[in-house]
Amino acid sequence: MAADGAALAPNVYDSEPIPEAARAEIDRLLASGDLFRYTAPEGAPVALLEAEFAALLGSRYALAVSSCSAALFLSLKALDLPRGARVLIPAFTFAAVPSAVVHAECEAVLVEVGANYRVDMADFAAKLPGAACVLISHMRGHTSDMDAIMALCDAAGVPVVEDAAHSLGTVWNGRNIGTLGKIGCFSFQSYKMINAGEGGILVTDDPELAARAVIMSGAYEQNWKKHPGLQNSYMLWQNKLPLYNMRMQNLSAAVIRPQLPELARRVEQGRFNHDHVADQLNACAHFDVPPPLGPESRAPDSIQFNLVGFDTDAEARAFQAQAKTRGVSVQVFGLSEDNARAFWNWQFLGDQPDLPQTRAMLMRACDVRLPTRLTRDELDFIAEALIAAADQVKAG
Ligand SMILES: *Cc1c(COP(=O)(O)O)cnc(C)c1O
Repeated sequence: MAADGAALAPNVYDSEPIPEAARAEIDRLLASGDLFRYTAPEGAPVALLEAEFAALLGSRYALAVSSCSAALFLSLKALDLPRGARVLIPAFTFAAVPSAVVHAECEAVLVEVGANYRVDMADFAAKLPGAACVLISHMRGHTSDMDAIMALCDAAGVPVVEDAAHSLGTVWNGRNIGTLGKIGCFSFQSYKMINAGEGGILVTDDPELAARAVIMSGAYEQNWKKHPGLQNSYMLWQNKLPLYNMRMQNLSAAVIRPQLPELARRVEQGRFNHDHVADQLNACAHFDVPPPLGPESRAPDSIQFNLVGFDTDAEARAFQAQAKTRGVSVQVFGLSEDNARAFWNWQFLGDQPDLPQTRAMLMRACDVRLPTRLTRDELDFIAEALIAAADQVKAG
């Protein structure tokens, strides 16, 4: 049975409650049956969400869709990449990212990621020639060196799509993550900063990309007229593009909209929670929590740290087991079977060259959720359990 404290371990899976304001709007939608975004002539919840989200990010256009994966796929399609085009992605990301590349009939080229969870710039620069697009996944909200990436891509004329699924609220040099590249994609899946169960949104300043993505998301016939600011662009693309029907429905927007005003508080709380635990872990010789890059202000809802001096997988597994008996679940990305964040499990890509640097990181990098609603006592409980678990293993 578990050690003494385990019964008191905090629940790290539940989200914050959905703001009460969602209830009246959901009741209204249920009473009227008005769930499809294009039924109302104007003011549909999805359209309002798009306007509010674009304003929040400082982007010209936003398109709400069924998931971030759908947003990534539509981004690649909107860029009109030829079949088989090479798309650079970080080798540390979620399986949905290479999957979106496959769905768009492109070829994923995996780039090494360092022990700080960020794209290795030497490998990136080496693989950039011949790439038609770069899809930067800010995995777990860790921002790679976007100054260097944008400079290289601008010089090479290669468009950048940002997978900012887990980066809503992250700022780079004072600019919102997701607005640095041509298109930025976000997720409203339950484990992200804003929770609608499922959902996604893309932002862009480019009217042609926006028009193409809107039509392909399923704005059939003249429904594009309900998206503001794009009339000329749509005339070019009407009936020329396939419809993939990845729209968001009104109930999702009703759940998301009242959470937007909560974002700033959640970001601040998430950063406090992360840094509070990180300080304690970094004071322990068995852990290393990589710091953010200089221009980066993070919006974390989880913590990642590397095990230091754990020479064998058995030792890393023993740490996981010790943490578990203390009530804290730790995922070591590379050690759990079928992990969707371990590149060697993406067999759907076919044979891939090995990525020894990313592999080494994944075998010692730990992942613990820290939802914004945790109290300081709960955070201390988690930090102390992790430290006690590592001490136990290393004392042997
Ligand atoms: C969650 C996540 C996705 C997928 O988002 P969905 O909305 O579930 O499709 C993609 N990339 C990253 C980095 C994520 O965290």
